[in-house]
Amino acid sequence: MLIRDILNETARNFTLAGIPSSRLDAEILLSHCLGCERLDFFKNPSLPVDEEMLASFQKLVDRRLAGEPVAYITGHKEFWSFTLEVSPDVLIPRPETELLVEEALSLCRETAAEISILDIGTGSGAIALALAYEMPFARLTATDISSKALAIAAKNAQNLHLDFRIEFLQGNLLEPVDDFFDIIVANPPYIAEAEYGKLPVGVKDYEPLEALLAGDDGLDFYRQIIAQAPGHLKSGGWLLVEIGATQGAKIFNIFQTSGKYRNISISNDYAGLPRVVKARREISG
Ligand code: SAM
Ligand code: GLN
Repeated sequence: MLIRDILNETARNFTLAGIPSSRLDAEILLSHCLGCERLDFFKNPSLPVDEEMLASFQKLVDRRLAGEPVAYITGHKEFWSFTLEVSPDVLIPRPETELLVEEALSLCRETAAEISILDIGTGSGAIALALAYEMPFARLTATDISSKALAIAAKNAQNLHLDFRIEFLQGNLLEPVDDFFDIIVANPPYIAEAEYGKLPVGVKDYEPLEALLAGDDGLDFYRQIIAQAPGHLKSGGWLLVEIGATQGAKIFNIFQTSGKYRNISISNDYAGLPRVVKARREISG
């Protein structure tokens, strides 16, 4: 069978199964299987694929049809300007999370000096790695409750030659941390219990529960992080959190009623949805 025909047929089957990015998924899986770039398909659409290769490709297609996310099948996901290793032990980094990185970077551009940043619940390491990559003088600390997630994050740090600038700590939120930081970032779990069952199959049945679930109203982690962060922020330091699209007003309110922050603001993502809340610790003294 020819590459062109395989891609057309697979994309059609994915579309029939209700998979939205059908053509892209077909191309990513075939390039993974053949060990080539997606670009090669445009250059050589009429190259044949042998039976054996086709059989192993079909296995990947079947996994996708069953609902497994492409990134878990290939073991990779693009984030920021690099490729991260992922496994079912970590949340697949989302494009929306790049807004959190951008917001943190824009605060740091104000200061050229060495700065310290904490990423709570680092998962694959996506946020911490993007910040370390963009800020050669920053010192990063990244935590997670899951030691399996931290193993993936540490591997990604090594692959990107950023391991010597990031300290990884296992534990609950800010408990494993002693230091004070200029910036604390977090994309915590934010799915309310009642919402969990409504998530797409690829999320609900494949991504780690502890990366998603956040109590009755989905705000448990924000309450804790907003309460604990001032104890680890330098005077005037910033806390930035990614939020679920409907949670903006409530989280703004939690920041406000804590009385420990000023300059509280919400930023929208590229889809126009509220996605990041940032606030500055009251300057003491
Ligand atoms: N930062 C990554 C990203 O943006 O792609 C992963 C975010 S994922 C939504 C939340 C992460 O928080 C998961 O890696 C999960 O293991 C971690 N986590 C859950 N509960 C935690 C806790 N109590 N303390 C620290 N990390 C926790
Ligand atoms: N963005 C994830 C989703 O689409 C949720 C991630 C989180 O809970 N922080 O379900």
